Parts: sequence; C-alpha cells; structure tokens
Amino acid sequence: MKNVSKIVEQFLCTSCGACCGACPKRCIEMKLNEYGIYVPEIEEAICNECELCLCVCPGYEFNYIEYQKRIFGKLPEHIGLGNYREAYACYTQDRDILSKCQSGGFVSTIIIHCLEKKLIDGAVVSKWKENSPFEPETYIARTRQQVLDAVGSKYNPVPAAQIIQELLKQKGKYIFVGTSCQIQAMRKTEKAFPKLKDKIFLYIGLHCLGVFTYHFHDQMCYKIRKNKKDIKYFRHRSKEWRGWPCDMRMKDKEGEVFDIDAKKSRLNPRPFFTAWRCQLCFDKANEFSDVSCGDCRMPKMHKKISAEGYDLKRGLSEFVVRTQRGEKIINDVINQKKIKVWKADPNDIASSIGLEKKLGVSVFRKIALCFSKGRPEYGVLFYNSRCKQSLIWNLLTPWTIIGSLLYYLFYKFSRFAFFRRFMKIVPHSIFGIVQKYLKRVILWMRFKKNVDIVLKITER
Ligand SMILES: Cc1cc2nc3c(=O)[nH]c(=O)nc-3n(C[C@H](O)[C@H](O)[C@H](O)COP(=O)(O)OP(=O)(O)OC[C@H]3O[C@@H](n4cnc5c(N)ncnc54)[C@H](O)[C@@H]3O)c2cc1C
Repeated sequence: MKNVSKIVEQFLCTSCGACCGACPKRCIEMKLNEYGIYVPEIEEAICNECELCLCVCPGYEFNYIEYQKRIFGKLPEHIGLGNYREAYACYTQDRDILSKCQSGGFVSTIIIHCLEKKLIDGAVVSKWKENSPFEPETYIARTRQQVLDAVGSKYNPVPAAQIIQELLKQKGKYIFVGTSCQIQAMRKTEKAFPKLKDKIFLYIGLHCLGVFTYHFHDQMCYKIRKNKKDIKYFRHRSKEWRGWPCDMRMKDKEGEVFDIDAKKSRLNPRPFFTAWRCQLCFDKANEFSDVSCGDCRMPKMHKKISAEGYDLKRGLSEFVVRTQRGEKIINDVINQKKIKVWKADPNDIASSIGLEKKLGVSVFRKIALCFSKGRPEYGVLFYNSRCKQSLIWNLLTPWTIIGSLLYYLFYKFSRFAFFRRFMKIVPHSIFGIVQKYLKRVILWMRFKKNVDIVLKITER
C-alpha cells in the first residue's frame, strides 16, 4: 500500500478524515460513496506516495498496547472500560445547555468552562451545515454560541480529523471532541506530527456503538413522505418532543415538524444500517481520550438521581475520567458547581457500552475474512475468559453468526438502488422483531451455560 485507496476497497475506512487532513499534497478529498459513508478520493496524478495518509489511518491498524502504554503508561486493569481514574453520572447546571444538548450537557459545559477560563482558544466540534441539514461540518468553536451551535450527536460518519492542517496552523490550545475512530486518528497523527500534541489541550471522547450510513436519511425521509431536499432541520435525537432519551426531529421548509419515535428512527434499525467498519471496532468506550462520555444508561443511577427529584427527561450523561489532565479539568468544573455529579460503578458503564461489543469484534472479523474483506490490526485479541477460547461460545455470546452476517449483507447491498428502495418499504418494526429474537436466543444460551462475560486480552 502506498496510499489509503486499498483501505477503502477493503471496507476498512472509518471516515475519520485524517488522511485528508494530513496529506501534504492536499490531493485527498472526503466524498460520499455508494455505501453512504465518507471515504477519501485520491488524485493519483498528484499523490507522491509519501505514505503519510497510511501513518495516520486508524482504519487498518491501531496498536492497542502501544497506545495504552504511550498515553497511560500501562495496560488497563479494566479491559471492558480501558484505563480510567473515576467514573460518574452527571448533568449540567447550565439550563440553556441542558435544554439543547444531547445527554446531560457534559461536553458543551466542559468546553464553555475552558473557554471562559481562557484555558483554550477554541474547540473542534461538528454540526450539520446551516443550509444542508444532512451534511456535516467540523469547525473550531471560539465562542459560547459557536459551541452551542454544535450540540447534539450526529450519528453518521463525520470526517472531523480533516481539520488537522487547519489546527496545525493555529496558535494556542484546543479541545478536540470526537468518536473513537476520530480520536484514534488524532493519536496516530500526533506521532506523525509531534506539533499537533502541543495544540491539543484535551480530547473529549464520545462513547460510540457505531454510525448510520447516509443512506439512512433517505429511509427516514421516505417514512415521513418527504423529499430530502425539502428538509431544513434535522436532529437524530431531540429533547423537544418527549425529552431525553430523545426521538428524531425533522422540519421542512414550510416549518412543519416531524417527530419520529426513537425505536423506529434509531434503536430498531440501527444494527442493520450501521457502517460495516464500525462492527470491527473494539473501542466503544473511547479509551484513548482524556475524558469520555455518553448517555447515562445505568438503571441504578436513574433510580438514585430521580429519587433526589431530578426529572430524567431533561437528560443525563455518564463520563469516565482517564488522564491526569482530564481529572484536573473535571475537578475544577465540579468544584465550581458547573455540573452535578454522582460517582458511578465502572462495571455498569462498561456493560452498558463496551463489553459485549468488544467480544463481538471477533465474530465480525471472521465474517470479514469469509468475504475476503480487510480486518483491522489491533495487536490484541479480546476473549471471554469464562468460556476460555472456545470458538463456538465466543461466537454465540455477543450476537449470533446469523446476525453479524445480516449486518454485512445489508451493508454490502446498500450500494444498490433497488435494495435501498426495497428497504424503504420494510417496516422498521421488523428490524425490532429480528433483534428481539436474536437477543432471546443469546440469553437462553447464556442461561443454559451460565456464561458471564469477563474480558481478557492476549497479544497477537
Ligand atoms: C456517532 C455517535 C455514536 C454514539 N453512540 C453512543 C452510544 O452508543 N452510547 C452512548 O452512551 N453514547 C453514545 N454517543 C454519545 C452521546 O450520543 C452524546 O454525544 C454524548 O453523551 C454527549 O452528550 P452531551 O449532552 O454531553 O453533548 P453536547 O453538549 O450535546 O455536545 C455534543 C458534542 O459532540 C460533538 N459531536 C456530535 N456528533 C459528532 C460526531 N459524529 N463526530 C464528532 N463530534 C461529534 C459535537 O460537536 C458537540 O460538541 C454517541 C455519539 C456519537 C456522535
């Protein structure tokens, strides 16, 4: 390989945009492909095969052990969650942020705090474009308003690391907010461009189970009988209708509002419209960030916090403090009462995001091998120590083989217009039923064999 074009062919591109951001010849552009994800398009005539794009690409290789040691000086004791110092549930005390943000407003509160204290000059955030609500835009926010313009999760591939060159030209310090693949890309880029390390004040990682391909927007527009071009406003998850944990909201040019129930718009169809590369990702907890966060999905915390009189419909975050720098900022924010926090059990966070998915990666790797597609190299294997290396139990514990095969085929066929047309007319409740029965089989098998998940790693 001399550039990243093979990585795209092998279904290994994460759409992070680092190759485009790092290319010294500026001959890489991120473009939507037929599978509905952003991939690098290379002007081969200009490319001098310097291989820098490969150096920064987390799509085909990211050495788990090397980066754990480089960032934290050690391998994690908690294999499910990664290296961490403390774990919390929280919500912001800023009412304005809380009403607009995705979860409990953790991300925006931290950025605004750092801006106000002049600890940073800006933060790299991502929003939907003003006049094109299905197109992502990554930019440096320097004011409170610019931070608030980017609130909310974009559950689609966002090539945020495209900003690398722009960041390198800036003076000062910056926060970078991103999904795990974007943060991995930035960590790899720091190695290639040591100057970048000085620019980054803090990495805020988003816990991430994967992204929808951009074809999914067509599906949703079809469901509300609207043309994509007529949509002016789009939020995957908006609190405006029924509060957190949020439903989808769209508005058309005439201002008509369309609210779509979370099950139909996100939860049921998610696995079947997820970008294939996300299924091969072990890093659901965003382990290489300074602090990582997500929606608080811990029933124990919900009970405790609502018993204190907080209305959960306003939103709740969970976060994991990983580095010393992260800890310092978080302590400042807590001491200044900008967020209200409760200590959380790290095992609960790990099981709500990371554990089973990490184990599932081995299944998806095997499927990729069967179809001669690429498999990212992490330098480690995750396995369930309770069932040792038993292939059949490893395969059956997280999802069934049939499930992962379906995910591959859905992704593979999504490039064909006839398939996309067919999928539009399939009620999304069918995806819910498929998932429900797959889960039942898995739970039944676990019950029979009493298979708990205790993650271990081995070096490859
Ligand atoms: C693709 C994706 C998948 C996720 N999956 C899960 C999950 O499975 N479980 C879970 O608990 N949490 C998940 N999250 C995180 C969750 O949805 C919230 O983003 C997180 O809790 C932060 O909420 P907040 O209220 O603190 O953020 P806000 O204050 O609303 O700020 C959100 C910040 O995230 C940034 N952002 C949003 N989307 C992207 C993107 N695609 N790329 C880069 N930056 C982005 C914005 O720039 C903004 O600064 C996911 C997020 C994303 C983007």
